Amino acid sequence: MMQVFMPLNFLGFVYREIKGSLTNIENMFSLLAQTSPVQQAEDAQLLSIEQAEVRFENVCFSYKSGREILNNLSFVVPGGKKVAIVGPSGAGKSTITKLLYCFYNLNQGRILIDGQATESLTFDSVRQQIGIVPQDTVLFNTSILENVRYGNLNASDEHVLQAIKDAQLAQFIASLPEGVNTEVGERGLKLSGGEKQRVAIARTLLKNSAIFIFDEATSSLDSHNEAAIMATLQSVSKGRTTLVIAHRLSTIIDADAILFLDQGQLKEQGTHTQLLAQNGAYAALWRAQSNQH
Ligand code: ADP
Ligand code: MG
Repeated sequence: MMQVFMPLNFLGFVYREIKGSLTNIENMFSLLAQTSPVQQAEDAQLLSIEQAEVRFENVCFSYKSGREILNNLSFVVPGGKKVAIVGPSGAGKSTITKLLYCFYNLNQGRILIDGQATESLTFDSVRQQIGIVPQDTVLFNTSILENVRYGNLNASDEHVLQAIKDAQLAQFIASLPEGVNTEVGERGLKLSGGEKQRVAIARTLLKNSAIFIFDEATSSLDSHNEAAIMATLQSVSKGRTTLVIAHRLSTIIDADAILFLDQGQLKEQGTHTQLLAQNGAYAALWRAQSNQH
C-alpha cells in the first residue's frame, strides 16, 4: 500500500509531461518510474516529526550543470508557522518545493526537517509528512470521491467526505446529479480551476501531513474565487508548518515571514510591514500590484 500511496504525491510535478489534464493511474506510474532521478541513502533513516521545522541551509541546486537555479539559499520555516515565498517567474520558487519533496539531489547544502537532513532519510517518510497543493492539479479519470481519496488510500468514506466539506467543495458537489460519485471523465464534468484546486486541497487535508505547501495555488483563479480559496487554506493550515508560494501579495500579508526570491537568491525577508518599510523589491512589487486594482 505504501508504494502505491507515495508516488501519487508527485502528481503536480509530472503534470507538465502528461498530455491533457486527465490520466490513468497506470500511465502515471510508468511516468513516475522514468522521471525520478533521485537517489536515497542506503542506510536511510525514518523521519521523526516533532515541531515540523523546515530549514534550508546553504542550498545550491541546478537541473543541468552550468546553470545554477538556487544559489546558497538559507531560510527557516519554524514549526507551525506560515512562510511565503514571492518573486518573479523563474526565480526558483517551485524548485524549492521539489527539493523539499526529495525530487532531486542537492548540489550543496542541506535541507533539514526537525534537524534531520533529508538526504539521510527515506524519501517515503519525508513525503508522508508533506502535503502539496500544486500549481497544476492532476485529476484521475474516476469519481470526485476517488480523486480525493488519493490523498490517503486507506481513508474511510466518512473521512473523505469530511475533507471534501473542509475544502468547501460540498456546495458544488450538491449541484451535481451524482454527487461525489460524479465521474471527472472525458465525457463528464469539466471542473473549473477553482474546483480542481479544492479537490487538491481536500486531498491534502485527507493526507493530514505536518507540512503544507501551496504552490501558487490560486494563480488560475479570479480574485473572488482566490479570496475564498485563501480563506479555506487559512483555516486548514492553522498550526501547521506552511509554505505558500504566492503570485498575488494580497493573499500572504498575514504570513509570519515573507521571502523575496530572485534568480535563486534570497533578496529580502521579513513581515509584510517590515518589507514595505524596507522599500525594496517587495515594496515595489506591492505598489505595482496595488495599482492594478
Ligand atoms: P518559479 O516557480 O519561481 O517560477 P521554477 O522553480 O519553476 O521557478 O524554475 C526556476 C528555473 O528552473 C527556471 O529557469 C526554469 O526554467 C528552470 N527549470 C524548472 N524545472 C526545470 C527542469 N525540470 N529542468 C530544467 N530546468 C528547469
Ligand atoms: Mg512556480
